[in-house]
Amino acid sequence: MPITVRRRRWRTLSERPKALVVGGGLAGLTAAHFLEKAGADVEVFEAGDSVGGRVGTVQVEGGFIDVGAQFIHSNYDVVLSLISELGLEGNLAPLTSPITTIQRGHRYRMAFDSWNVPYLSVKERLRFNLQLGRLLLPRLRMRPHAEWPRSLDLDDAELGHYLRPRVGEDTFEYLIRPLMLSYAMAEPEGVSVAYFARSMAMYLSTKTFALRSGIAALTDALAQGKKVHLGAQVVRLLPDGPRRVVGIEVARGDRREEVRADAVVMAVPSPALAPLYDGWSDVERRFLDTFAYSPFPIATLRLRSPVDDPSYAVLPDRADGYRLSFLTLPQNKLPHCSPPAYLQCYILGPLGAGIIDEDDDTITGRVAQDLERIFPRVSRDVDWVRVDRYRHGFPHFAPGAYGRALQFRESVRSIQGLAVAGDFIEGGLLEGAALSGKRAAKAVSADLGLRR
Ligand SMILES: Cc1cc2nc3c(=O)[nH]c(=O)nc-3n(C[C@H](O)[C@H](O)[C@H](O)COP(=O)(O)OP(=O)(O)OC[C@H]3O[C@@H](n4cnc5c(N)ncnc54)[C@H](O)[C@@H]3O)c2cc1C
Repeated sequence: MPITVRRRRWRTLSERPKALVVGGGLAGLTAAHFLEKAGADVEVFEAGDSVGGRVGTVQVEGGFIDVGAQFIHSNYDVVLSLISELGLEGNLAPLTSPITTIQRGHRYRMAFDSWNVPYLSVKERLRFNLQLGRLLLPRLRMRPHAEWPRSLDLDDAELGHYLRPRVGEDTFEYLIRPLMLSYAMAEPEGVSVAYFARSMAMYLSTKTFALRSGIAALTDALAQGKKVHLGAQVVRLLPDGPRRVVGIEVARGDRREEVRADAVVMAVPSPALAPLYDGWSDVERRFLDTFAYSPFPIATLRLRSPVDDPSYAVLPDRADGYRLSFLTLPQNKLPHCSPPAYLQCYILGPLGAGIIDEDDDTITGRVAQDLERIFPRVSRDVDWVRVDRYRHGFPHFAPGAYGRALQFRESVRSIQGLAVAGDFIEGGLLEGAALSGKRAAKAVSADLGLRR
């Protein structure tokens, strides 16, 4: 059998293959990190005025507050290895504060194991665990992130339709919903059972951590020393023939310029990606036309005096008329880092999507009544408000979306010179974003003959 000896060709700096990464969120920065390590000459183009995307930390008097992603889970393999490589390991702080759910006027600590749920009857707990077993046993030891396609057989069923009759209304409302809000930032209706199974695999096998330095320390550290162009909106991928990309067109203010390269990694949410290229195949177009992100605002309020509650999060009872999905007390996530007297209000689902374009006062006004019910008189104590609007908040894995995302992921591989990253092609969340960036870098490195 002939043996092939591969010779490593040493390149000078100017000879290094050039890769452009579009999007300075975690997916793009992870791709840039691994491409640079493999020996590429990398430039990152970010439309916003800072890196991080949906990872953001704001400085406030007396500390900081994370306004986008909050938690890293113990099964985030890629994120945790980046954290250790970047020397941030010492900043990981476990979440120890409870999560409170409100059910018919009573407050309970949320269950973090599937049996110990005091507010459900023994029969309800049995039914829930039976269903959980049915869903998860075939996926025993599934790595929830890297192996999410193993849930594809559950992709066509809608969660409410599938689970409500099987577990009962109370379990759905007071256990499934809080779990979906906590682990997937999604109201449970309209998502696929596959997404639920992934979230539950995570819930049963994970510990939760925040970063004591603020979560943006991760994306800031990744961006450190890289060529990052801020305020650089990519408006078009440059084609050369039907399925080949040779660069990008960038708009900076009124100026437009074309930048050519050996490879382009697109790491932007799918709705931002769709209009940039005319050469999508039917499968790719079908995915891009149907896949959506849920938009929502988050209002961060500063109070004149802190509320006295040990919870990190409070999940109110929508059956009792609450409109707020949940609120959080950042100081109970990271005591001594986030100052007391702040509250963050998450308005998800149709209400969040409906009011995202309203002004700050209107958005906070919509949940003031709920706040009063949770912490009486608190809304009179608010002296500062900040609203963050996430137009591409969370990828929405509706029934069928996992399958279409996977087809898209496979299909775009046949476009020469292009790789796609982003949380939407790896099942969502920080780990999905980082994993997608790492995989995109690996594919590009292979194409360009770089070390991997
Ligand atoms: C409020 C909130 C809380 C969250 N909490 C958690 C959590 O606790 N744990 C967890 O694991 N995940 C959480 N997430 C999800 C997590 O933040 C995302 O999955 C992840 O950050 C997505 O990274 P990304 O790089 O794929 O996308 P993004 O972060 O959206 O990055 C995409 C970047 O591309 C840029 N861009 C877009 N279009 C263009 C263009 N044409 N040209 C140039 N640049 C462009 C954008 O400005 C953006 O910076 C949360 C998300 C939100 C919104």
